[in-house]
Amino acid sequence: MSGCFFDRDGGPETGPPSPPTLRARGEPARSASAARPGGPEMGPPSPPTLRARGEPARSASGGVVVAAVRPGSDAATAGLCPNDRVLAVNGTALRDAIDFQFHAADEVLRLDVEREGRRRRLTVVRAPGELGVELVPPRPGDIATCANKCVFCFIHQLPKGMRRSLYVKDDDYRLSFLHGNYITLTDLDEAAFERIVTQRLSPLYVSVHATDPALRHRLLGQPRHSAEILPRLERLAKAGIRVHAQIVLCPALNDGPHLARTVAELAPLHPHVATTAIVPVGLTRHRARLPALRALTPDEAAALVITVSAWQRAFQATLGSRFVFLADEVYLLADRPLPPSAAYEGFPVIEDGIGLVRRFEDGWRRSLARRGVRRVRRDVTLVTGEMFAPRLAALVATLDDGARVRVAAVPNDFFGRGIGVAGLLTGGDVQRHLAARGDLGAAVLVPAVTVRDGDGVFLDDVTPADLARDLDVAVKLVAPAPAALLDALCR
Ligand code: SF4
Repeated sequence: MSGCFFDRDGGPETGPPSPPTLRARGEPARSASAARPGGPEMGPPSPPTLRARGEPARSASGGVVVAAVRPGSDAATAGLCPNDRVLAVNGTALRDAIDFQFHAADEVLRLDVEREGRRRRLTVVRAPGELGVELVPPRPGDIATCANKCVFCFIHQLPKGMRRSLYVKDDDYRLSFLHGNYITLTDLDEAAFERIVTQRLSPLYVSVHATDPALRHRLLGQPRHSAEILPRLERLAKAGIRVHAQIVLCPALNDGPHLARTVAELAPLHPHVATTAIVPVGLTRHRARLPALRALTPDEAAALVITVSAWQRAFQATLGSRFVFLADEVYLLADRPLPPSAAYEGFPVIEDGIGLVRRFEDGWRRSLARRGVRRVRRDVTLVTGEMFAPRLAALVATLDDGARVRVAAVPNDFFGRGIGVAGLLTGGDVQRHLAARGDLGAAVLVPAVTVRDGDGVFLDDVTPADLARDLDVAVKLVAPAPAALLDALCR
C-alpha cells in the first residue's frame, strides 16, 4: 500500500488556477503491485542506465517508443529524439523496455530507429553512466493481466466509474522486475521463465500468501492453473533469481498456523527468497458480492508483532537476516514501537509499506539536525491520512512555532474508514474535510503521493488546482523527503 505521508517527487505550488505538473503514484493499492525501490540485478551484461519510466514500452509495430531524451546525454548527442521508435539495438529486435535495457549495455549501440515513418540508423557511443533515455509506458492492453480472483483483491473492491487504468489487474513479470509489482507466478509459462533466467530478471516480487497449495488456491480465487508456489520458487532459486515474497494477511484465513507454515517453508529458500513481507489486508466499503473478510484487530496486530519479533530473532541467528518483516500499519494498529532503522536491513521492500514510517521519522530528525532554520514561517494546513496523522503531528510539534501547522487527518470516505493511508485519499475527501475545517492558513500542503504520475490528478480525477479554487487557498504538492516538507514549512 502506498506510503505513510509522502511517496515521490512533488510539484509546484498551485494557487488558483494553474494546473500542477508532477509525478506521483500509479497503482491504487498493493493488490499485485508495489513499486520496487532498488535497481534491478539484470545481467550479464551489466544493466545500462536507462530510466524506464512506467511499464515495458512496446507498440503494435514492435520496438520501444522514446518519451524523452535528456539534453546533453549520449543519446541526445547521437540524435535520438522523443517519439522515435527504437526497433532494434545492434541488430537485435526489441520486444519491450527489458530488451532495451539488456541490449543497450554495450559501449557502442547501433539503433534502428523509425521516425515519422522513415527508418534511420543512429550510433550511440556510451560513456559510463546514464544513457539519458526515458521510454513511453505501454497501454493497458500491452500488460499481462492475471487470471486470478483473489479474495482480497483491491481492484475488485474499487467502485465502478473510476478511470480505466485503475482496473488493470497486472500480473506481469516484466513489471515485477522493472517496478517491483507483485506477481503470483500462476500464469508464468515456459517462455517467460526462460526469459527471466536468460536475462537474469532479478529480483522479482512474488505474492505468496500461503505455501499450502489448497489454501493458496483458495486465496487466489481458484485460478485454472495450479497455484502451488514452492516448486516455482525453488526453480527460480536454482536459476539464481532472487525473490521478495509477500503475504497479504487475512485474519482467520492465512494467519496463525498457516502463516507459521508459510514462513517456515519459505525460510529454507533464503537467500534466494530474500525477504518475506507480511502486510494486512486492506478492505474498502465497496466489497459487494465478494468473499467475507475482516480486517486485523489491534489485539491481533499486537500478537503478530510479538510473534514476528521472535521469528526475526530466530532467523537472525540461523540465516543471518531477520527474513520476515511486518508492514508499518501493523505496528501502528498495535500501538507498538516501530523497529529501529537497522532492523529493516537496508529497507529492501520499503515500497510495500515496510519501514516507510521509520525512514521518514529518522530522516526528519536528521534533516532537522542539519538545518539552521527550524521555525515555521506561516500558518499552513498539512494533509495526510488518518493512519500517519498522529505521528506527523508529533514530528511537527518538534518545530519552533509548530502550532502554526494544522495537521489534517483526512478520513477516507471514498474507500471507507478502514483505509488510512495518504496515498489512497481522493480529492473529493480532501476538499470536503478541509472545507468543514474552516481556517486553513496561507496554504494547504498535500503529499504528492495522493496524485497520479504524469497528469497530477487525484484518484477521483480532481486536480490540486480544483482544490485550490474550491477552498480559495494555495495548494502545494510536497515531495516525499522529510527535507522537502521542512523546506515547505520553514522557508
Ligand atoms: S486478482 Fe489477485 S493477482 Fe490479480 S490483481 Fe487482484 S490481487 Fe493481484
